[in-house]
Amino acid sequence: MTKVLGIIGGGQLGMMITEAAKKMPQHISKIIVLDPTKNCPASQVGAEQIIADFKDKNAIVDLANKSDIITYEIESGDSTILKNVEKNTKINPSPETLRIIQDKFLQKSFLKENNIPVPEFIKIENIEELKTGLRNFGYPALLKARRDAYDGRGNYKIDSEKDIQKALDYFKGQNLLLEKFVKFKMEVSVIASRNTKGQIKTYPLVENIHEQNILRETIAPARVSHEITKKAEVIAEKTMQVLKGAGIFGIEMFVTQEDDIVINEIAPRVHNSGHHTLQSTKTSQFEQHLRAILGLELGDTELLHPTIMYNILGDVSFEGKYAPINISEENVFLKMYGKEISKPLRKLGHFNLVAKEGETMEELLKKIEKIKEKVVV
Ligand code: ATP
Ligand code: MG
Ligand code: MG
Repeated sequence: MTKVLGIIGGGQLGMMITEAAKKMPQHISKIIVLDPTKNCPASQVGAEQIIADFKDKNAIVDLANKSDIITYEIESGDSTILKNVEKNTKINPSPETLRIIQDKFLQKSFLKENNIPVPEFIKIENIEELKTGLRNFGYPALLKARRDAYDGRGNYKIDSEKDIQKALDYFKGQNLLLEKFVKFKMEVSVIASRNTKGQIKTYPLVENIHEQNILRETIAPARVSHEITKKAEVIAEKTMQVLKGAGIFGIEMFVTQEDDIVINEIAPRVHNSGHHTLQSTKTSQFEQHLRAILGLELGDTELLHPTIMYNILGDVSFEGKYAPINISEENVFLKMYGKEISKPLRKLGHFNLVAKEGETMEELLKKIEKIKEKVVV
């Protein structure tokens, strides 16, 4: 029996899930996304759209009534409403997992309780708690919004006592946590998946380079020792054992100065650092996510070729329509998200540069520098 798939969020992740779903007509007959922006990226590739806020109760109930199975591309959906509609519509990953993950304080507390390493953190409810936290952690430290943060927009780095009031003003009214600053050697991530039958598969460890808190580049595989790779895999596996629900989980980690691994955060959804799988593995993370929530056998995750993914971001000093981007280079796969307007650091698209037979990572890294010049927005 084919199913109607509902997705909360119709941005680029919803778009690429939709594209994968359209290649599985024997399992999925229709895709409906809930997104507040008219003509959202997913709707441009064939998803029906309900135009409403992600937290709109009636819209979520409407989506649930129309769908056999619901998933999401963002973690800010209302987990209580989702729990209520769960009786009639399958939701994956589970609303309970979403509830824990969507609050960075609950998420870190949950990981810590399960003996999974995270940076030191505390909940912050007033200036006194913040001052105490800073005394314990030292400078710099990161003040973070507990909910609804992405691309680092919910982070404020406190470098000295002078920043305390500014940081609190920045977050006016939001629930917060303070984290010790990790002087990491590298950021890495594991894209893991579990299907509804409990089968688990993970993609190889990748290296992530951020600029101004936003992912800029993913290098697959990560340039780390076998020991570090192993440590990260063990932590990813342990994390999957404690988190419930089916689907893809993006597990972001830091490699510390001591070559230990700590988890930065987990996304209960397909993840930007998994976009390389569109070309580098047999099964993309988008197809894998669908296989997972549909209860199908998970696909191969082996990295077939070294690959670099580069995010095309809006220029920091420009807002408006931008000229179309074209790249015609061998082994470069461009994906634009159909966003008409560029905004500072907005994710407009990405490309994957895939190694040719025998090409090394050093060669690939040299090559990509020239291609980057062609994608300035
Ligand atoms: P995303 O877009 O990945 O959801 P986010 O807004 O949820 O991002 P985080 O992942 O918490 O934000 O942080 C963004 C980036 O800030 C991290 O990738 C990392 O580079 C840096 N960062 C976050 N926490 C710490 C920390 N405790 N110590 C040092 N750097 C950090
Ligand atoms: Mg996040
Ligand atoms: Mg992050």
